[in-house]
Amino acid sequence: MPKFCTLFSGSSGNCTFISDGRTNLLVDAGVSATRICAALAEIGYTPYDIDGILLTHEHRDHVSGVNVMSRNFSIPVYANSGTMEKTLSTIGWIFDDYIHTFRTNEKFSIGDIEVFPFSIPHDTVDPVGYTFRFDGEYYSVATDIGYITDNILKHLCKSKAVLIESNHDVDMLKCGPYPYPLKKRILSDRGHLSNENAAHLAAQLVKWGTKSIALGHLSEKNNTEEVAYKATAECFANNDICIGTDVNLQVAPKDGICEIC
Ligand SMILES: [Zn+2]
Ligand SMILES: [Zn+2]
Repeated sequence: MPKFCTLFSGSSGNCTFISDGRTNLLVDAGVSATRICAALAEIGYTPYDIDGILLTHEHRDHVSGVNVMSRNFSIPVYANSGTMEKTLSTIGWIFDDYIHTFRTNEKFSIGDIEVFPFSIPHDTVDPVGYTFRFDGEYYSVATDIGYITDNILKHLCKSKAVLIESNHDVDMLKCGPYPYPLKKRILSDRGHLSNENAAHLAAQLVKWGTKSIALGHLSEKNNTEEVAYKATAECFANNDICIGTDVNLQVAPKDGICEIC
């Protein structure tokens, strides 16, 4: 049975689980190994079941638990060379045998899962989102995105289930406590996707056939689960998209399982 769920999602740490029932992968490991192991236990897995950790980019909320997970449980780590180098320089070493580098925008396979790492605009060396293909279906993870590019749409358009970023409410961010340079960074083309942008992306994906959407990577200070959900739900209503019939819509919690499918 396929399984696609977030374990942690948000500016304080990210980790997503995806499995075709044979090969089990994590996208990012941005909280401690202890917390990841506890979350895996909640969905009936152990860290020894994990066949690979795929990194999106080197920000701490995506990589802080990678070295301990890899070293303690012999888990291969996959990233493009820029992200791998930056990550290892900040979090510490992993065994050479577990370092696997790929080229952005070129597909590869882990077990029976085809992996498509696609480039995204964000303020790191070579950030990526991922589309996975197995048993004839596509599943995607796309967070930490400054703006939606054609390349992102191309990769997400066939997905049955997606995790997309709905990082902030623009008014909450503008009026909130962050210093001006940080606000500017988040709102920039290499920052994060607003609720409004996520809503439009989500509506487009539903029109293309996506059946399950999780809104994730919410800002703790500049968003709430209710505000993020409402923004996409309103956009769906304006586009005659019916939640529950046309699509399953959820908000991935900061800490807690969100079953996308
Ligand atoms: Zn992030
Ligand atoms: Zn980031």
